[in-house]
Amino acid sequence: MPPSIVWFREDLRLADNPALAAAVAAGGPVICLFVRETGVEGVRPLGGASNWWLDKSLQSLDRSLSGAGGRLVLRTGHPKAVLFDLIRETGAKSVVWNRRYGEPEKHTDADIKAALKDAGVLAQSFNGRLLMEPWELKTGSGGYYRVFTPFWRALQAAYVAPPALDAPKRIEGVDVESERLADWPLHPSAPDWSAGLRAAWTPGEAGAKARLLRFLEGPVNQYAEDRNRPDLDTSSSQLSPHLRFGEIGPAQIWRAVKAGVAAGRIDERPAHVFLSEIAWREFSNVLLSFNQQLARKNYNSNFDRMPWRQDTAALTAWQRGETGYPVVDAGMRQLWHTGWMHNRVRMIVASFLTKHLLLPWQAGEDWFWDTLVDADPAINAASWQWTAGSGADAAPYFRVFNPITQGSKFDETGGYVRRWCPELAKMPDKFLHAPFEAPESVRSKAGVILGRTYPEPIVEHSAARERALDAYKQTKEEQGAA
Ligand SMILES: Cc1cc2nc3c(=O)[nH]c(=O)nc-3n(C[C@H](O)[C@H](O)[C@H](O)COP(=O)(O)OP(=O)(O)OC[C@H]3O[C@@H](n4cnc5c(N)ncnc54)[C@H](O)[C@@H]3O)c2cc1C
Repeated sequence: MPPSIVWFREDLRLADNPALAAAVAAGGPVICLFVRETGVEGVRPLGGASNWWLDKSLQSLDRSLSGAGGRLVLRTGHPKAVLFDLIRETGAKSVVWNRRYGEPEKHTDADIKAALKDAGVLAQSFNGRLLMEPWELKTGSGGYYRVFTPFWRALQAAYVAPPALDAPKRIEGVDVESERLADWPLHPSAPDWSAGLRAAWTPGEAGAKARLLRFLEGPVNQYAEDRNRPDLDTSSSQLSPHLRFGEIGPAQIWRAVKAGVAAGRIDERPAHVFLSEIAWREFSNVLLSFNQQLARKNYNSNFDRMPWRQDTAALTAWQRGETGYPVVDAGMRQLWHTGWMHNRVRMIVASFLTKHLLLPWQAGEDWFWDTLVDADPAINAASWQWTAGSGADAAPYFRVFNPITQGSKFDETGGYVRRWCPELAKMPDKFLHAPFEAPESVRSKAGVILGRTYPEPIVEHSAARERALDAYKQTKEEQGAA
């Protein structure tokens, strides 16, 4: 039988992978391909942290494929040219893949599908990334959902998890040329800044599965209470980078949670709250699918008039975790060291950038894109717009998080700030989240000298809040006058 090509992209797993399962079921040899895509106009290159993850995830995928008798073939180029080269070399008669939802990927895939069909090659795509395709759930008027709650209600009513697909036991490979992963510029060098990432993560399908099991064995039952606590390592699943690279799919998570509930191991309420976060991921993908410029353009065009500031010094202080607001700085340093940040803190730092500093949300989205191991085209863009107030079903612009009260409320023990800002470790709880409010004697006893051991605040909270609200008011007035 002629071989089939499985084009892996954001689905770096063997289990529950519909494209791989279809190729194996076809019965012939299977070429497992990953393309380092070049020459596709408009593609957003992965950030540094994502490249680090991709490198390890591809190593892991190759090991798993080899264990089943196959191997991962690596090629660089325009995916259309790569696929047609491979078809010529091997006589492959079918190409399968799991869909992706951003631009220009959707167009590239559609164009390739049409070209393959014209050439008499079977081309099939599957859903391996979402619970439901973005176009499957429609509102009463036939459009897509722009508000989360009705979307989540509709999803729960409509979604039926398909039967799980086991990882293939045996994959008959084909001997074709492959590039060497070590030659791809994915792992950072000169300098290699990845030690913190290496210590924090185990990229790959086995790492994803282990993390899910660990979370469902216990921490999930505390999720409803603890999910806003950045000081606890187990307050959320930390599955996001695994989901980003498709080392695990949302359907696998859905089934595992439902099975845990049915068996009485997982309580209904935390299960529901946890799955609703998976639904936020779906909702973000719906928004991206229907708004291809989601990472660049305000979803709400009223924000096109927002008088964002340009302030390189403030942006740099934010990026480095040197704003003088401990919970913001702790978050930005956690991000830099581990490639990940707790969700509550992501909201706080994003609010700080867009409201306290009045810097454009795109600047924050870009920084997250480069530094997050889970940087996701749909979720990152939708979440930044949500925080800035410009997104669909967004937080209202006038909700300006106070970094002091947010810190005291959600990092009540101070464990998070003390871990990531060790220079504040000896500050008493009362002043930990606002060292600048402490009497000089208290700071001195804790070894904190503002401006020397820890930065002075770069903005004053109330004044910054007023400035942000004024800017928004002005934007609305201009809109009204236009
Ligand atoms: C400004 C900002 C930027 C963000 N950028 C990203 C990003 O690039 N990639 C990313 O995966 N998440 C992003 N998030 C969402 C969220 O912070 C992370 O998904 C979450 O912190 C990941 O940790 P976890 O896996 O432990 O989440 P859990 O709480 O265990 O949730 C399980 C899964 O649900 C999904 N999820 C959770 N919260 C959200 C949310 N608010 N919106 C959409 N999906 C969610 C994720 O896939 C997550 O892995 C962002 C949030 C903000 C406020």
